[in-house]
Amino acid sequence: MTIASFSYQALPAQVRFGRGTISCLADEAARLSLDRLLVLCTPEQQDQAERITELLGGRAAGVFAGAAMHTPVEVTERALQLVRSTQADGVVSVGGGSAVGLGKAIALRTDLPQIAIPTTYAGSEATPILGQTENGLKTTQRTLKVLPELIIYDVDLTMKLPLTMSLTSGFNAIAHAAEALYAIDGNPVIDIMAEQGITALAQALPRIRERIDDADGRTLALYGAWLCGSCLGAVGMALHHKICHTLGGTFDLPHAQTHAIMLPHTLAYNLPAAPRARERLARALESADPARALAELAVLLEMPRALKDVGMPEDGIEKAAELATRNPYANPRPVERDAIEAMLRRAWAGALPAEDGTSVYARI
Ligand code: NAD
Repeated sequence: MTIASFSYQALPAQVRFGRGTISCLADEAARLSLDRLLVLCTPEQQDQAERITELLGGRAAGVFAGAAMHTPVEVTERALQLVRSTQADGVVSVGGGSAVGLGKAIALRTDLPQIAIPTTYAGSEATPILGQTENGLKTTQRTLKVLPELIIYDVDLTMKLPLTMSLTSGFNAIAHAAEALYAIDGNPVIDIMAEQGITALAQALPRIRERIDDADGRTLALYGAWLCGSCLGAVGMALHHKICHTLGGTFDLPHAQTHAIMLPHTLAYNLPAAPRARERLARALESADPARALAELAVLLEMPRALKDVGMPEDGIEKAAELATRNPYANPRPVERDAIEAMLRRAWAGALPAEDGTSVYARI
């Protein structure tokens, strides 16, 4: 074993993990001295939010059920009006990255504490990152102001996450850990978390595919999601996240599905230039060709595999390649426009990333 020089900074994190953990919510709110919590969710999860307000009892200030994907600023402004009119002293976000993102956007503007109760595997709750959309433009910032004060992971709340969302969200989590393994500011601690996070999700997803309420599979997936989200929060991301950010922001593609479709392709591109990451991924996925293994897992799980099936216009491919390669950023392999365009064409059509083992963009 050899270790290169590295820097490491731990992020503050308080986590309650398990089944039925949500029952500790009122006690945790009391411990944090929070008396008027506004509960945030998307319209689809209003029922779950109402249950949370019941659990909070006298400590609930109300529900705002307008959270939306990519955290539109106009939604945040509406939620802020309710924060002010209810004199909320904190927020509880229940849901996926959309609800958690709204909590972060409120915290950025008010410094109110956040309790995050994640119900997907996106991992936003474990990061100091906030992406917001204004006038069709998505911008991202990193600040400790948006890191939730407490995360309550309750496996029971994830049992009804729809199958496609469960699988694609799981791939979204794997993507965070995979890119952490070759991050420019990576370190051995995050490598361990990344490898274990990917291992947990790769074992969990086939179980969830088999039985959507498999409690052990759900537990493993949520645990993996926390580890992978922590990787995203700790180190910088590269080509894969850049492309997904571009596709999501410019063509309004669904977040988790886009990550799931692109991941085998971006790894096929990068791993030849990232041997140590490849080694860890190979162990986690039990395959000498991790990019191919992920593509095959997606086939096995019958997941969406083509960008054309999630709303990507074919005539947008050139623009996406141009946007994803316009500004330089750290990536293990030089980001070449033509190769990226070839990759996007394959992903658009739903082709495997390295069908013949020597796909155009797997050569370096
Ligand atoms: P989402 O939060 O938009 O959820 C997708 C849908 O699933 C919503 O309708 C939601 O209500 C529903 N849902 C969630 N959990 C459910 C459950 N347990 N049962 C039934 N329905 C449920 O999707 P997402 O992929 O979790 O989040 C995507 C957003 O998060 C994007 O805006 C993305 O940019 C952001 N994100 C941010 C970070 C970060 O670190 N800042 C990390 C990952 C994702």
